[in-house]
Amino acid sequence: MMHEKIKTWLQTSDPARLSDLWQQADAARQACVGDAVHLRGLVEVSNTCACACAYCGLRVPNRRVKRYRMTPPETVTCAHQAEQLGCGTVVLQAGEDAGLTAEDVAETIRAIKRTTRLAVTLSLGERRADELAYWRREGADRYLLRFETSNAGLFNLLHPGRSDGGAARQALLEALRELGYEVGSGVMVGVPGQSVDDLARDLLRFQELDLDMIGLGPYIAHPDTPLGRGDLTLMRGVQQVTPDVLTTCKALALARLLCPQANIPATTALATLDPATGYELGLQRGANVIMPNLTPARYRRSYNVYPGKGGDAEPARTVVDLRRRIAALDRTVGTGRGDSPNWRSHQLEDPNDRPERRLA
Ligand code: SAH
Repeated sequence: MMHEKIKTWLQTSDPARLSDLWQQADAARQACVGDAVHLRGLVEVSNTCACACAYCGLRVPNRRVKRYRMTPPETVTCAHQAEQLGCGTVVLQAGEDAGLTAEDVAETIRAIKRTTRLAVTLSLGERRADELAYWRREGADRYLLRFETSNAGLFNLLHPGRSDGGAARQALLEALRELGYEVGSGVMVGVPGQSVDDLARDLLRFQELDLDMIGLGPYIAHPDTPLGRGDLTLMRGVQQVTPDVLTTCKALALARLLCPQANIPATTALATLDPATGYELGLQRGANVIMPNLTPARYRRSYNVYPGKGGDAEPARTVVDLRRRIAALDRTVGTGRGDSPNWRSHQLEDPNDRPERRLA
């Protein structure tokens, strides 16, 4: 698909054309990843963060956040709950927290791998290549690291103190692949300063990166951030993307068509914007994964990347509710790890073709 065609889709409001897009995306989803919806238990292991991202509520200057860091045993307990609730994967996410040491993470991975059959996904931000390699050796399966935008100038504006235009994140995505991780990335839809051209380029970048997982959620303003307060004006002269449900669904559908074998969640941000039908719309327009929040209640409200994130529903109830909603769509809940078919197909290829994809 070419840039101009993607742009046209992103800009259309014609119901007949949109219904065609939803149908194409849903057909590709069914053909390439099937009807199963995989549940990934999300555990937000630390909200301590060294960054000052202009959109994120966990940014360093936000003194209103009560900072926490879970211990390895606390995290392992959550992983056990994930397995009991029928998740095939546990996702460990955190701010950019050097205090979450390589050894702590390794200990956590080892304990989860020893005592469960779960796949382990890490989402711990930009860490050193030797740490990523260590965690892979200890059994980590996947890594999520959104590149946030492919527009280098916008990347620097959104990330105070950064001047690399996002090159370090892009390089880490390559490094993760070489280490044999399943690699996930993504962007927010409608972050201030993002133009329709930018979002179209982001979507094409997913394809170039040959991603195994793609995270796409709407930008949600946080009042304790420069962007949420309107202190930063990035929008001048830009054909700004709207951070709404419809645009997020268009981006999801296009991501499915560009990367048909990737695992793509109906994100919590989408469900936060549209609690009644966000998950359903995502699942019917390209998505095949949901990430229920299993962070202990005492920490969850402190992981407020954006307002309303996580809610306060108890995990077991959340999962029962999700199962009912998935069944109502005539879909099934995935069993097993739910590896990305994209990643799996590369494992079977001639290793000389793609040496970076060989199993460690
Ligand atoms: N520190 C890790 C995890 C960040 S939280 C990392 O840097 O990878 C996961 C994602 O939440 C981010 O990548 C970002 O895309 C998203 N996010 C942050 N603030 C947001 C907001 N205000 N609205 C919507 N999504 C947001």
